[in-house]
Amino acid sequence: MIEIEISTKESLQISCLVLDYNGTIARDGILIEGVDNLIRKLSENLEIYVLTADTRGSVIAQVGHLPCIVHKIPEGSEDLSKNEFVRNLGSSKTACIGNGKNDRLMLRDSAIGIAVIGKEGASCHALEGADIIVISIIDALELFLNPLRIKATVRT
Ligand SMILES: [Mg+2]
Repeated sequence: MIEIEISTKESLQISCLVLDYNGTIARDGILIEGVDNLIRKLSENLEIYVLTADTRGSVIAQVGHLPCIVHKIPEGSEDLSKNEFVRNLGSSKTACIGNGKNDRLMLRDSAIGIAVIGKEGASCHALEGADIIVISIIDALELFLNPLRIKATVRT
């Protein structure tokens, strides 16, 4: 669990981190360099899930050896499937990172939603649903090693 103290009245206890795959932690289906070590480090304090329709069929080969759980969602209505998965984990204890239009609902409903622009770009709908927008997945994952950065961005 990672505690993020937003203000004297509000603190978040984040236990789960949900990651979109394509465009977020992978480019052209290949895991982005440096993500593997950050997943290992963050897994000491967080349960990490990778959500994907795996349209390229590459996900298990790319992340199967890492301390994370791959959850495959059916193609079609992926926004609803992703959001339902996060709700079942518990939205208030879950942070999400994504880049696509189908990530909007989970970014909106989770405790902390981070949209990543990255090399593949991000949907304006993902940005609209997010609490924080960053330009690389490395920056996004490192926020959870430095929770004061999250506080500085989301506090009122
Ligand atoms: Mg994506």
